Amino acid sequence: RFIALEGGEGAGKSTQARLLADALRQRGVEVVSTREPGGTPGAEAIRSLLLEGVEGDGGDGWNPRAEALLFAAARSDHVHRLIRPALARGAWVICDRYLDSSRAYQGGGGGLSDADIGMLHAIGSEGLVPDMTVLIEVSPNVAMRRLAARDEGRTDRIGGRDAAYHARVAGAFRTISQSEPERFARIEGDGDPQTTHALIFAALTPILP
Ligand code: C5P
Repeated sequence: RFIALEGGEGAGKSTQARLLADALRQRGVEVVSTREPGGTPGAEAIRSLLLEGVEGDGGDGWNPRAEALLFAAARSDHVHRLIRPALARGAWVICDRYLDSSRAYQGGGGGLSDADIGMLHAIGSEGLVPDMTVLIEVSPNVAMRRLAARDEGRTDRIGGRDAAYHARVAGAFRTISQSEPERFARIEGDGDPQTTHALIFAALTPILP
């Protein structure tokens, strides 16, 4: 089974990915925990290009199309080297961000069309879609408070994005999840980690071993 966790910054995806992986392992399942962008040496190298930028570009960062291509290239390596082989041997893959982050950030935030993102994904990753995608939604002030408390000094964020960008991302996540209700579990993530974990676990019950 392939489970993706999605949401904006400060939603608590990484914590929830860890709690979910632990809970599944307790049921005797082999779990491969991974993240995007990254997850393989090649994709982690592309992650650095994306998040740290490139020296000499004047701090402009990548244009939205180049950014989308880099995310798609990172995902391609990740899918081919790690995710597909793990699924093929029967492991569960838990991925912190996946395709829907591209649709929300490079699409909703950056303005690329969903069709273009879908095309890149079809080419790069042969269209591999999670069995279930958990969208963790938090209110903007909760996300901001968490980021301020936790990520002080953290530099691996794509800069130059304003509140309007993040609002578009959140809106895009919501729209995408509503367009595919059977694939998505929408979880309210303002509460403490254990509460959110329980909600996620309950939502996954139909596909649990
Ligand atoms: O997962 P995490 O929140 O650490 O993501 C790292 C950075 O990459 C964040 O700034 C996130 O917004 C960005 N990102 C993005 N587009 C994606 C995936 C991640 O802009 N498709």
